Amino acid sequence: MDFRFSEDEEAFREEVRQWLRQEIPQRWIELDPGIWEETEESWALARAFQRKLGEIGWLAPAFPREYGGLELSHMKRLVLAEELAYSKAPVSVEVEITVNWVAPSIMLFGTEEQKKNYVTPIARGEKIFCIGYSEPDAGSDLASLRTRAVEEGDGYVINGQKIWCSYAHLADYCWLAARTDPDAPRHQGISVFIVDMKTPGITVRPLINILNQHSFNEVFFDDVWIPKENLVGQNNNGWYQVMIALDFERSSVGWAASNRRGIEELIDYARNTTRNGKPLASDPLVRNQLAQLVVENEVACMMAYRLAWMFSRGLHPSYESSMSMVFISEATRRTADVGMRILGHYGELDRDSRWAVMNARLMRMCLSSLSIGVGGGSNEIQRNIIAMRGLGLPRK
Ligand SMILES: Cc1cc2nc3c(=O)[nH]c(=O)nc-3n(C[C@H](O)[C@H](O)[C@H](O)COP(=O)(O)OP(=O)(O)OC[C@H]3O[C@@H](n4cnc5c(N)ncnc54)[C@H](O)[C@@H]3O)c2cc1C
Repeated sequence: MDFRFSEDEEAFREEVRQWLRQEIPQRWIELDPGIWEETEESWALARAFQRKLGEIGWLAPAFPREYGGLELSHMKRLVLAEELAYSKAPVSVEVEITVNWVAPSIMLFGTEEQKKNYVTPIARGEKIFCIGYSEPDAGSDLASLRTRAVEEGDGYVINGQKIWCSYAHLADYCWLAARTDPDAPRHQGISVFIVDMKTPGITVRPLINILNQHSFNEVFFDDVWIPKENLVGQNNNGWYQVMIALDFERSSVGWAASNRRGIEELIDYARNTTRNGKPLASDPLVRNQLAQLVVENEVACMMAYRLAWMFSRGLHPSYESSMSMVFISEATRRTADVGMRILGHYGELDRDSRWAVMNARLMRMCLSSLSIGVGGGSNEIQRNIIAMRGLGLPRK
C-alpha cells in the first residue's frame, strides 16, 4: 500500500500552509483559545477568518461549485482540514457542525431551494447552525425525544426543550429534530427542521462548561411557528436522516492533526526543560510515554485517512466513523493525561499564574478532552454501533 499523498496534493498542502502563515490573525495567536473556549472577541475573529476562507472556496472545498465549493477531491479536503487543525486556525466545532455535518445532510435530503438558501451561505462562511437533538431525557437514547412539531396550516408549531446546544446563542439557525407523529413507533415519528434562531418563542439560556466558558445552552421552544418549507426531507423520516448526519459528525478528520500538534509541543517542552538537574527528555518514562502517544496518533491518522478515502470512493462511512471517533477521543485524552503527568504541578496552573507553562494549554486540553468522547454520542454508544453495524452482533 502506498500512503503517500500525490505531488499535486503536497503542492496544495504547501499553498495552504503559506496562506495560513499570512492570514491567521496575530491577535488570535495571542488569545490562544482552545476548544469550547470562545469569547466575544475570539468568536468575532473566527467568523471573520471563516468568511475569508469562504471567499476563496476553502471553507467547503469539496462542495459542488454551484453551492459555493470548489469540487476539490476528498483527499485535498483532508489536507486542508489537517493544516487548519495543525496550525490552530480559527476554525472550530461551529464550522464542523455547520459545514461538515449540516450542509452535507441538506445536500442529501434537502430541496433545491434549501440547498440554495442554506448550503451556499454556509460555504461562504455567512451562516452558522447549532444542533438541537439532545433533551433532558433524551441523549444516548435520542429516539425518546419529546419536542413536538404539530402541523398547522402552512407550517408547524414547535414546543419543547433542547439541551447542550453548542453555540445556540451565536447561531443563525438550529438543525432541529422533533416528534411529528407521537402515535408512530418512536423511531418513525421524528422529523428534521431548519429553524431560524430569531423566530419568536425561542429562549436560549446559557450553560457554563467545565472550562468556565459559555459554549452550551438550553433552548426552549414555546409555540414557535415555522413554515412548511423548513422541513428537511420527508415528514417522519427524521430518524434515518439524523443517523446519516451523525455519521458525518463522527467522521471529523482534523482531530489527529490537532493532537499531533499537542504531542509535538510536549516533546519540545521535554527537550527544553530540566528537572532535578537533568533534561526531562532523558527520563526513560517520559520518553516512553511520548513515544506511545506518537504511535497512537499515527493510528488515529490512518483511520482519518481511511474515512477520507471512503468519501473519495463515494462510500458512506458508518461504524468506521465510530471507530475513528472512539480512538481519536481516547488518544486525545491520553495526550492530555501524559502531558499533565510530565508537567507535574505546573500543569495545574491557569494562565493567570506566572508559573503556568505552555500557556496552561495542557490543563485546558485535559478538561476539554473529557467532553470529546461524549458529544456526538458517547464512546459507549460508538462501541455499541461498532458491535452492531461492524461486527453484526445483536442489539442486546
Ligand atoms: C461538548 C459537548 C457538546 C455537545 N453539543 C451538543 C449539541 O450541539 N447539540 C445536541 O443536541 N447535543 C449536544 N451534546 C449532547 C450529547 O450529544 C449528549 O451529551 C450525548 O449524546 C450523551 O447523552 P447524555 O448526556 O444525555 O448522557 P446519557 O445518555 O444519560 O448517558 C449517561 C452515561 O450512560 C452511558 N450509556 C447510556 N446509554 C448506554 C447504552 N445503551 N450502552 C452503554 N452505555 C450507555 C453513556 O455512555 C454515558 O456514559 C453535546 C455534548 C457535549 C459533551
